[in-house]
Amino acid sequence: MNQRIRVRSAVVLFSCLLCAVGPSIAFAQGTGEVAVGATLAGSPVDVRVVARTDGEVAGIFYSSVVAPGSARFSLPAGAYTLVVEHGAGFARGAEVREITVQAGEEVRVEVEFPQGFSPSQAWGYYGVDLHAHSNASFDASTPPDELIAVQLAAGLDIGFLSDHNTGDGHAPFASAAKKRGFPVILGVEITAFRWHWTAYPVDPYVPQIPPMVWMGVGSPAPTFAEARLHGAQFIQVAHPYWSGAPYFEALGRDFFDPNFDLIEIANSEFDEEDQRAVEQLFAFWNEGKRYVAVAGSDAHHWQDPTHIYGRPRTYVYVEGELTVEKWLAALGKGRAFATYGPLVDFTAQGGAARPGDTVVLARGEEIRLQAELFVAPREAPRGLALAQVIKNGEVVRDFPLDGRAEATVTFADAPTPGSWYVVRVVATDGDQAYTNPIWVEVR
Ligand SMILES: [Zn+2]
Repeated sequence: MNQRIRVRSAVVLFSCLLCAVGPSIAFAQGTGEVAVGATLAGSPVDVRVVARTDGEVAGIFYSSVVAPGSARFSLPAGAYTLVVEHGAGFARGAEVREITVQAGEEVRVEVEFPQGFSPSQAWGYYGVDLHAHSNASFDASTPPDELIAVQLAAGLDIGFLSDHNTGDGHAPFASAAKKRGFPVILGVEITAFRWHWTAYPVDPYVPQIPPMVWMGVGSPAPTFAEARLHGAQFIQVAHPYWSGAPYFEALGRDFFDPNFDLIEIANSEFDEEDQRAVEQLFAFWNEGKRYVAVAGSDAHHWQDPTHIYGRPRTYVYVEGELTVEKWLAALGKGRAFATYGPLVDFTAQGGAARPGDTVVLARGEEIRLQAELFVAPREAPRGLALAQVIKNGEVVRDFPLDGRAEATVTFADAPTPGSWYVVRVVATDGDQAYTNPIWVEVR
């Protein structure tokens, strides 16, 4: 039994190399074709499809960027579980189908997604994966045009690209996006040997990194200035404590340049390095330095089952119709939360203030905070486990939640001058979200 499984996995793996190339390749012997059609409210939508057999990933496929809602691929004959996703883990759960593939035959799978929850329609929050690579990066494999379908399948509202030291992916990425009416933000991940920052929006330039900056022993001020000359509205510290490129290890050194705007507190799966970034950001906020917390997947490979585009991501509040300019302006103000899934609409004074805003209070007056919360299932069901109000870096209130999908929490407090408040939300599977602060001034 075990032997047979092993043999089949090897065939599956080989066949996936073929099917990744595209449907034009003739059936390899013993394979059949799978055609997935996906709609939401009657319209075709982009999908990510994970095929599993005997608990192992046999392949990851996407609907074509030029044929939205339609994914075709071949698999060796056998029984499979198909996990079909559009906005999975954020707007709705995945749809799971059991199929049997027969050699030389086609299996059709039709998926109509439930409406789910839309943070843009409900609250005005729009999601972007603020760290994403295409195969214009030396270490990545996702074609820049297909990355549009990948990001649409993730349920993102604006496309985003940040390759290492190149804008070579900008043109194919932007042109595929334009055909789909999908707005995009084009960036470059300035990649020195020792430090990384993401600059956007920028023209497709190649950063000229001075040797001292390259080695992590000189001020990056000229590198930041060059990015600004190429249009950068923002410089984002990428993975500030990742051992491969930890810019924040330069904190306190005379060459540390604080003239960046955004800090990744969540890069790929959350780990101790991200936790250190959260703690350092809290320290900055306590010093009155209003950097903005953001999240991005840093995904490189669309066929990688563990680093998934759109997880984590940054949601930004935009009033009225969405434009890239408005989204970026609101990001700069900190009207944002960073999340692996839980969604949070954090407000103060009955909706008069949001993250990034400053609430001005008379002495003795209370701040009244409210957070509306939602979490979608991923492949497995899940709910909300905990919400926390954090004041000046300390948890001041825990709200245990009982696994339901939606909740509203409220909290009133007497702030001291210069206080700030954020909400952290945790799902039953550990996925979490952090808002940016609502600031308080007491007069
Ligand atoms: Zn990096």
